[in-house]
Amino acid sequence: MQSPQRYIAHMDLDSFFVSVEVLNDPSLKGKAVIVGGSRERGVVSTCSYEARKFGVHSAMPMKKALQLCPHAILARGTRGEYSRYSRWVTDIIAAKAPLFEKASIDEFYIDLTGMDKYFDPYQWAIALREEIIEKTQLPISFGLATNKMIAKIATDMAKPNGYLFVQPGMEQTFLAPMPVNKFSGVGEHTHNALKEMGIFFIGDILKFNINDLEKKLGKWGVDLYAKAQGMHHGTVHSYHEAKSISTENTFQENSADMEFLLRELVRMTERVGYELRQDQKLTGCIAIKIRYPDFETTSRQTTINFTFSDDELIPAAISLFHQLYRKGKPVRLLGVRLSELTNHALQGSLFDNPEKKLNLYKAIDDVKNKYGKTALQKARVVKKGSI
Ligand SMILES: [Mg+2]
Repeated sequence: MQSPQRYIAHMDLDSFFVSVEVLNDPSLKGKAVIVGGSRERGVVSTCSYEARKFGVHSAMPMKKALQLCPHAILARGTRGEYSRYSRWVTDIIAAKAPLFEKASIDEFYIDLTGMDKYFDPYQWAIALREEIIEKTQLPISFGLATNKMIAKIATDMAKPNGYLFVQPGMEQTFLAPMPVNKFSGVGEHTHNALKEMGIFFIGDILKFNINDLEKKLGKWGVDLYAKAQGMHHGTVHSYHEAKSISTENTFQENSADMEFLLRELVRMTERVGYELRQDQKLTGCIAIKIRYPDFETTSRQTTINFTFSDDELIPAAISLFHQLYRKGKPVRLLGVRLSELTNHALQGSLFDNPEKKLNLYKAIDDVKNKYGKTALQKARVVKKGSI
């Protein structure tokens, strides 16, 4: 029996970090914007299409990017915002897609094989893209093809903010006019070797005999031949959510100072609580870990009512700490971990007055997003127990 025709969609948010920055600050729209590390030592993580016109690209040292495009605006959003949007897009896809893989924070493969009996995969992908744009306002492009490799290249061709379907049987024709380094894995060395052989475009590869390619390039030559024919057998790996959120801190100096340890514990619990809310999750289990200077490591966990509230997490963490800590012994490392994560929507009715509390935390976290995560810690300690 012939195996069914495969259909794989590759969806990729366009210059994702920059798009999020523009949503948060519409005055950035249409400007050369770079998201990345520091001016002196950082690298470009994403840049707007306006900045690309000046030759700026991802992974370029910031210093060089600013030489090419001195008027670029540097943005450095909080990871919380990016993961919140990424989560949102993931949820929209998860609600619709039979099988999908989250390849990175802004990139997805969706396997639609076998679905063509029930709907047109192309129309389906167009509708999904429209839904994502309508709900999140983020530009996203997709490529639809018979395998992952072609789908990803099709997305590249479709960008920005477009889509492209490479129909079954058209793979070779689609690839032929593209430069050979369009294939991932063709580095400078291979590229030069190919040029010496007179291979500039993907179509040129197929003018060679496969044995000659193998002689010149080894196994890679055989791979390249198959790729040029449009063949790729990678499968879509189904996506699983992160199972826990945790943080650890190794102290500069070992400490047995109870006040210091508790303060650190509260600070770390607030940090994981913040991450939890940014991911729009509730937790049902909290654990803490203590490591002593001799590297003896102990941990203890407890199940709790599903919550996202610091004022429920902190007492649980403190209580665990008192049960676990051997008083007077210096501590080298402290860790806090939340697990049994679940979505808000499913468990929203499990606790009192969720709306009011959620809004209050949202206000707090918005300030944290704006001014950095430490902004509210002082106030939080003073007002302990009141939220
Ligand atoms: Mg992207």
